[in-house]
Amino acid sequence: MKQHIAVIGAGAFGGWTALMLLRNGYKVTLIDAWGAGNSRSSSGDETRVIRSVYVDKIYAEMAHRAGQIWRENENAFGIQIFHPIGVLNLIGKDDSRLKAALGHFDDLGLKYEEVSKKEAAKRYSHINLEDINQIVLENNGGYLLARMGCHVVKEQFVKEGGDFSIAAAYPLSIEHEKLQGIKLSDGSKLMADTYIFACGPWLGKLFPEEIGALIRPTKQEIFYFNIPAGCDMVENLPVWCDFSSLWDNVMMYGIPAAGSDAMVRGFKAGKDVLGEDFDPDISERYATEAKWKEVKRFIHHRFPILRGMGLLESRVCQYENTPDAHFIIDKLPTANNVWIMGGGSGHGYKMGAVLGEMMVDLVNEKVGVNPVFSFKRFENLGEKVERR
Ligand SMILES: Cc1cc2nc3c(=O)[nH]c(=O)nc-3n(C[C@H](O)[C@H](O)[C@H](O)COP(=O)(O)OP(=O)(O)OC[C@H]3O[C@@H](n4cnc5c(N)ncnc54)[C@H](O)[C@@H]3O)c2cc1C
Repeated sequence: MKQHIAVIGAGAFGGWTALMLLRNGYKVTLIDAWGAGNSRSSSGDETRVIRSVYVDKIYAEMAHRAGQIWRENENAFGIQIFHPIGVLNLIGKDDSRLKAALGHFDDLGLKYEEVSKKEAAKRYSHINLEDINQIVLENNGGYLLARMGCHVVKEQFVKEGGDFSIAAAYPLSIEHEKLQGIKLSDGSKLMADTYIFACGPWLGKLFPEEIGALIRPTKQEIFYFNIPAGCDMVENLPVWCDFSSLWDNVMMYGIPAAGSDAMVRGFKAGKDVLGEDFDPDISERYATEAKWKEVKRFIHHRFPILRGMGLLESRVCQYENTPDAHFIIDKLPTANNVWIMGGGSGHGYKMGAVLGEMMVDLVNEKVGVNPVFSFKRFENLGEKVERR
């Protein structure tokens, strides 16, 4: 008899996990309260960056593998979700983060190119490089169509025989270290051998005792800038990550409106810094004028061609932060038939595919829980959230 696994949450983490488990012979039920890639989920934006520039080697490896998985599945999905247009890293005075990351690139054989300022000025003529010291192009990075990615993974899951339903799921009691099933919003009860909760920013609410504030959702604002009609910057520009000192080493990043079709809106830009606390159910999703002005000031400095252009659209979604910005991929401490996947902390989307593979190995007991992603690590942790 096949083991029955219920995966709750069809975002980047849960959707891929359900598909990978199904392909490995499990009977899988995938449940989402609003649907895969829905607007309130963290995976529900148009696009997400996929890059391997990480201080932690584990993420460089994972991001690289994730890109491969997207490519391997492209034919099956029938749509290109991963757009490997490259990621341009713009470095100011402090290059420590980049140095560490490029060490991993060398170890892992990942492709990158140091671009001289002169060459960059030619290739990326719309970027103001005056306060930039170093430019590195990560050749195999790019962007993913985020909400569409969740949708196609779910569709593929169903096509391959998985069972998907829209329902809110809530854990029933835990007895003798076993969850006694889940209650669905239609009033029914679902029993499985194993439960995987991949509920993004809702995890703290679902398990207030075990998770609670360990996953803290924060408000994140994203702006889509208008670009001049017919402007060639869009075709020539990779995804960019700006680590210049202008912004105290906070990363600013953006995704050009590559393709410029209905899939991607305007010239996307955001600031990788934590906003105020945010409730994914009740907080208002409007962007603030203060944040718009701040991002606009930066964009006008870095991309002078956009001066005078207005705001096309804005979006508010949430990071779901752990105290150290590492994910949680571990069994719930109180129930050994429950796994928790979450704590994307602003960098999780790209990892969904590879976390799905990891979860198969964990459920198979082929590997143990990685201490970096464990609940145990929180026992000795301070308050600070470090961006990854
Ligand atoms: C502004 C912004 C920019 C980001 N940029 C990047 C980036 O460039 N690159 C990157 O890799 N990552 C990025 N991230 C982070 C990334 O988007 C998230 O880490 C990732 O999407 C989290 O996926 P998830 O599956 O854990 O959660 P979610 O996508 O939130 O999925 C959780 C799912 O669970 C469902 N659910 C919740 N409760 C229940 C319930 N009780 N019953 C049933 N279903 C339930 C929800 O409907 C939802 O679909 C960014 C995030 C934000 C907000």
